Amino acid sequence: MSKLRFRVVETAFKKKPVAVAAPAERPSEYYAKYVFNKEKMFRYLPSKVYAKLIDVIDNGAPLDRSIADEVAAGMKKWALEMGVTHYTHWFHPLTEGTAEKHDAFIEHDGKGGVMEEFTGKLLVQQEPDASSFPNGGIRNTFEARGYSAWDPSSPAFIVDDTLCIPTIFIAYTGESLDYKAPLLKALRAVDKAAVDVCRYFNPEVKKVVAYLGWEQEYFLIDEGLYAARPDLLMTGRTLMGHDSAKNQQLEDHYFGAIPTRVAAFMKELEIEALKLGIPVKTRHNEVAPNQFELAPIFEECNLAVDHNMLIMALMRKVARNHGFRVLLHEKPFKGVNGSGKHNNWSLGTDTGIGLMGPGKLPEENLRFITFVVNTLMAVYKHNGLLKAAISSATNAHRLGANEAPPAIISSFLGKQLSQVLEHIEESTKDDLVSLSGKQGMKLDIPQIPELLIDNTDRNRTSPFAFTGNRFEFRAVGSEANCACAMIALNAAVAEQLVEFKKDVDELIEKGEPKISAILEVIRKYIKICKPIHFDGNGYSDEWKEEAQKRGLDCETSVPLIFDSYLKPESIRMFENTGVLTQKELEARNEVKWETYTKKIQIEARVLGDLAMNHIIPVATQYQTDLIDNVYKMKDLFPGDKAAKLSAKNLELIEEIADRTAFIKEHVDAMIEARKVANKIESEREKAIAYHDTIVPAMEEIRYHIDKLELIVDNQMWTLPKYRELLFIR
Ligand code: ADP
Ligand code: MG
Repeated sequence: MSKLRFRVVETAFKKKPVAVAAPAERPSEYYAKYVFNKEKMFRYLPSKVYAKLIDVIDNGAPLDRSIADEVAAGMKKWALEMGVTHYTHWFHPLTEGTAEKHDAFIEHDGKGGVMEEFTGKLLVQQEPDASSFPNGGIRNTFEARGYSAWDPSSPAFIVDDTLCIPTIFIAYTGESLDYKAPLLKALRAVDKAAVDVCRYFNPEVKKVVAYLGWEQEYFLIDEGLYAARPDLLMTGRTLMGHDSAKNQQLEDHYFGAIPTRVAAFMKELEIEALKLGIPVKTRHNEVAPNQFELAPIFEECNLAVDHNMLIMALMRKVARNHGFRVLLHEKPFKGVNGSGKHNNWSLGTDTGIGLMGPGKLPEENLRFITFVVNTLMAVYKHNGLLKAAISSATNAHRLGANEAPPAIISSFLGKQLSQVLEHIEESTKDDLVSLSGKQGMKLDIPQIPELLIDNTDRNRTSPFAFTGNRFEFRAVGSEANCACAMIALNAAVAEQLVEFKKDVDELIEKGEPKISAILEVIRKYIKICKPIHFDGNGYSDEWKEEAQKRGLDCETSVPLIFDSYLKPESIRMFENTGVLTQKELEARNEVKWETYTKKIQIEARVLGDLAMNHIIPVATQYQTDLIDNVYKMKDLFPGDKAAKLSAKNLELIEEIADRTAFIKEHVDAMIEARKVANKIESEREKAIAYHDTIVPAMEEIRYHIDKLELIVDNQMWTLPKYRELLFIR
């Protein structure tokens, strides 16, 4: 009998919520306690230095190296007062995680003792010996130098005893080796391009900020049960497990009362997040059992990305305090909803205008339409690339599955916005703009209610949905670094806005008045990007057919989806916007393919192990019991009667024999297929081989394991079942 499974189930059942003491102060008082934010900069830096640093942060002014020493001194003073002993450059290598290497402040003081030091040099740049981070061949080990360089636009923060300084990570030769460097470039590109377009409407605008509000979905699993599932432990998802009779059919979990152990986890998580200056706001049960969601108030994109990376680390840590493990994998369980990380994205000006929201005046609405249509154009032109930006071995299980956005990028606009675009498309120039006496220009753009956020007019099946004052990129995976999607989206929109400006300026030069020039270009764009607009059911098969006809990218194989990064139009877009060079794109794709292969490889190994060590032995043991029973029946009853009474068991004995034989054969074949794939030199071809041969083999093996789970004695089954994983909390 399997002891571990029953022991962990019993223990899990007995667990009580962990008491979480609320801080004595109000959230507004302890918010950002551990962040070297503007308030602390003001307090700890000389006023001149403070002013210069704020100029860097707010206006993107170049960093004056001469202030670094004083900033470092101020930071150190604050950190020491907070009891900090170490510092680290904190960066986002291409691993989907963050990296840090801690150093103590101590230096020799020359008198036999030590003193605590932190110089500007250490703040600004470091050279972590980081030759083992993925780099796609940019760094040969003999020139394995990589530099981390301070990103002043994201404030330093304290975790435990360590001062963490957000940094970019680049190669000795200047190429980006992380997500942050290209993200900052993409944000700069979209800022500049959007300001230029904005000035048609609001000449006073100096800066446009991209905003991101992510919604993080996750599962919580009791840690004992988690430990009894080697597949969860090693791969983050269950590689086998039959559906439990009840899962999410009754929709009784979604928005339901939060289970008490989970509520305690959320409470502690939120307190810690607020102390780190992460403005967490929303929490609720998600659709699948044991699935939950957390969302902060949106922030400037770079900061929001850092905060998401930070919160994922925090979730993992806090979950342990409550006897849980957090699953950030996009599809930990077959048959119930997977987890996404909706990226709510918009642009806003330094003057306080939300560019993705309609206004009261016709001119404001024209500005709104301009930004919406240009976004649609960017998404249309780069729909394959945007899909590549959210694709991974893990997200592949979610996309295209029944409850998640399909593996086709399209955009939902809703009835009101669709009607406005139709109206503009169908009207002539004269219909739309007329000169009307004293009032000057009259614009015939139908009124759009300012508050479009109407929940009935929502479409959960759309991967890129307009939701009133923002777009919601819903296809992003729960485990991913949002930066990957945000780099592609902001860069694509930047390129598109530059093109728009060029098109409009050309017409203006020919003597066309500004407004009608804008409208003319918009009308042309609405027609061009029509194929990306789809308000129907994205889960339906008809949509797949229709999307194909419309020429949208319908590729479903992740290694092939990655090819979109290297299409000429993608390379041109990334190079023109200054975000990534061809060399960087090629290297990053090598990393993507390699990561894909490794993830599938690990899963295949774990599945093979479990099949051979858990499933087949247990099934065989049960089969032996059945055989034993059949023999005993023979002793007990006359031949005919014994045969009749044992018929069912004989069937089971055969079924077990067939299924275990199938499993064994396919595990062996899968090992052989891996050997073949592993010999392939090209990372791309290797990933394709893993996708084409290993992934389907795993599915087949799983199918038979899940069938065995249904017939083998429950007492013998070693792995916690779905009903235990999903319903014990
Ligand atoms: P829902 O689940 O209804 O889509 P949530 O409240 O869970 O909404 O999350 C919405 C997210 O979108 C939040 O992070 C919110 O701050 C963010 N958001 C709201 N307005 C904007 C905007 N203009 N730009 C970017 N993000 C926004
Ligand atoms: Mg949402």
